[in-house]
Formats: sequence, C-alpha cells, structure tokens
Amino acid sequence: MFEMKKLNFDTKALEPYMSAQTFEFHYGKHYKTYLDKLNELILGSDYEHMELEEIIKASYAKGDKAVYNNAAQVWNHEFFWNSLSDRGAVEPSSELLNKIVASFGSYDNFKKEFKQKALGQFGSGWCWVVEKDGKLSIVATSNADNPISLDLGKALVCIDVWEHAYYLDYQNRRADFIDSWLAHLLKW
Ligand code: MN
Repeated sequence: MFEMKKLNFDTKALEPYMSAQTFEFHYGKHYKTYLDKLNELILGSDYEHMELEEIIKASYAKGDKAVYNNAAQVWNHEFFWNSLSDRGAVEPSSELLNKIVASFGSYDNFKKEFKQKALGQFGSGWCWVVEKDGKLSIVATSNADNPISLDLGKALVCIDVWEHAYYLDYQNRRADFIDSWLAHLLKW
C-alpha cells in the first residue's frame, strides 16, 4: 500500500503563484485519486510488493496501461511536489549551475528553452530536466510518461502541465504558469 507523501509546506504557502484552492484540488483530489486507484489495482497482484519505480517499469513493459498510468502519475506528482519551493525560487548549486551553463549556454537561456518545451507539450503532460551521461536536457512527456519508463536519465526537476495544475489560477494561460514556476516556485 502506498501512502500520500506529506508536504513540507502549507497548501497556502505557494500563493499567489499557486493558490491554496489549486493545491488542495491537485494534492487532495487528483494525486490522491491516482494513489487510491493504484493501491486498488495492485492489491493481490504481482505488483503488490514492488517499489513504485519497479511497478512503473514492469507495467510499462507489459502494457498494463491502468497500472502504469496510475503508478507513473503518483511518481510524477511526488516529484513535482519536490520541485516546488515555498520560499521563492531556489537557485541551483554552483556545481549544477556549471552543468546548466555547459548544456544550455546560460541560466537565462535554460529558462527560455524550458518554457518553450513546456509550452509546446500538446495536451496533458510534463516537462522535465534530466541528466544522462553528465549532460542535462529538457524533455516534455505526454500524459503519464516519465523519465523512468522512457529511460531518459535521472530527473532533476519537473513541472506538471496538465490543465488541472494551473487552470483555476491561470485558465488557458499555460505560459504565465510556467513563468511563475520558473521565477518563483522552482526548487532544484
Ligand atoms: Mn497533476
């Protein structure tokens, strides 16, 4: 049985960039539903005693779509909660900054490329910074897909660009939500 990850901040803590209402729906309804559904699906199955990452890989390989979608969405949301700061955007460490500059030219250019990629994800999905063989890249994935199932490398941060992540606060303005996250909420 998987349990909801406890947050280390209050649901109001990300205002005005992410409202308590958005956060409460996102965490208490969307994320909780994926988690409850996953627990229900794996009960009594071969997946029951696996770690979450193993479930993602095994269900993806087998084409068990319902298990895969719910398991990946639980992992993705927990990764996203960890990519949020309640104290303003957190700067990357100097070691990480060096890698960002080596991969994207500058931190400003990284933000520009990240925004384009996240904005360009057609429909529901995610945008990630991943590290593979010492090189960073920005990858957008559809629906529940993530760097584990697609073998894209180690995820460093992500943003959820499903409409439920921003619609109450930004309506159709995904670009404004991405700007807010990059400027005020991003935690490396
Ligand atoms: Mn979400």
